Amino acid sequence: AFAGRTGMGAVMGSKNLKAVACRGHLRPRVADPQAVATIARWIRDNTPAANRAMKDYGTASVVMSLNRQGGLPTRNFQMGSFDRASKISGQAMKETIFTRRRGCFACPVQCKREVKVGEPYVVDANYGGPEYETIAALGSNCEIDDLKIIAKGNEMAAAYGLDSISCGNTIAFAMECFERGLLTLKDTGGLDLHFGNGPAMLRLIEQIALRQGLGDLLADGVARAAKKLGPASEEFALHIKGLEIPMHEPRWKRGMGIGYIMSPTGADHCHNMHDSSYVKMYPLMEEMKALGILEPLPVADLSPAKIRLLIYNSLWMHFLNCAVCCYFVMVYGLVGFERMANLVSTVTGWNTSVFELMKVGERAATLGRVFNLREGFTSNDDNMPPRFFTPHTSGSIRQAALNSEEFQKAKQIYYDMMGWPDGVPSTGKLGELGIEWAMPN
Ligand code: SF4
Repeated sequence: AFAGRTGMGAVMGSKNLKAVACRGHLRPRVADPQAVATIARWIRDNTPAANRAMKDYGTASVVMSLNRQGGLPTRNFQMGSFDRASKISGQAMKETIFTRRRGCFACPVQCKREVKVGEPYVVDANYGGPEYETIAALGSNCEIDDLKIIAKGNEMAAAYGLDSISCGNTIAFAMECFERGLLTLKDTGGLDLHFGNGPAMLRLIEQIALRQGLGDLLADGVARAAKKLGPASEEFALHIKGLEIPMHEPRWKRGMGIGYIMSPTGADHCHNMHDSSYVKMYPLMEEMKALGILEPLPVADLSPAKIRLLIYNSLWMHFLNCAVCCYFVMVYGLVGFERMANLVSTVTGWNTSVFELMKVGERAATLGRVFNLREGFTSNDDNMPPRFFTPHTSGSIRQAALNSEEFQKAKQIYYDMMGWPDGVPSTGKLGELGIEWAMPN
């Protein structure tokens, strides 16, 4: 597992901790082994079919559909479609560098890829192939269309312990600054940082990891780099609360945009919602009926109904993160809310329910909020970079941009629904969650 994103790697680094390795020889005990085995068999037999594309092409299966819909970050989020996307898709990987599927222990989906790349970009198979986020961050967002170079960048980022999303965003930021004259060849030590220069991207990953040359400026991410580089660069530094934006376009998936600004870890897609999964009666939308959400919603909708959909999804994902369960299996594998609650009960012996597990997620989200308030964040930090309020320069949603007034309104609705007036969890909300001791001063 990696600890590169959302600050965990920085915490470990500050303590001089390189890794935590665990080894065991005993089977973990569960409360009801037979019932757990029944649910495990159901997951084994059903989730791969529900998640066929992930099994066949990995997370990169989404590259072409996102590209068609204008949701593939390109050129530091200036565009949402990449004219060479087919060269970096999951299908292209399968036909070129893919050797076999891999995955986490006992997972029936096995979404990981193993790849083989020869000279001059030899990739150690143990690092696996690039996932969607890496393909977009080091690929389309830097306008690089060579899967072998992206696979090499993926290997290097993993070997150096860098988050490939932040790393790719930071390199795209540097490329845009270079093209706009804010960085010169003198600043880059002679590196030509035009978008599309794959070898320069690889060189920059190394420089960032080793804090050499321009890498020293970029190693702390785009927020701090822009502070040092000057105000003119700030509009190209795409981050929320210091965390670079994941590879999901918030001008298109607007509920996810609200999720980004409300996430306790900054721009984060891992306790969020993909609006595009709820625009029709898709299987995921069907599942939401169990929570009383009956109608699909347009991808760009930001009505109270969309914010409710976002919050329910987000709280469930916060719970799944607490339970260390994979979203691709438990959500996209259509395991369902009730079956998941049964799994927790049969593993732990607790007589729990979907309601209680939702509250686990809400407690985690609210504690994260309280922690951030204590550390000095305010509701002013719940904001999207200005670029997303301007339209794409080309592609299938070239007219689309966030509307500031609508976005601010949606933010207030989110606070209201969460019981966070002005962004601060109320006494009543903390009491309801049993964490009144966490009350901010
Ligand atoms: S557990 Fe999740 S991330 Fe791991 S291989 Fe399975 S689907 Fe992929």
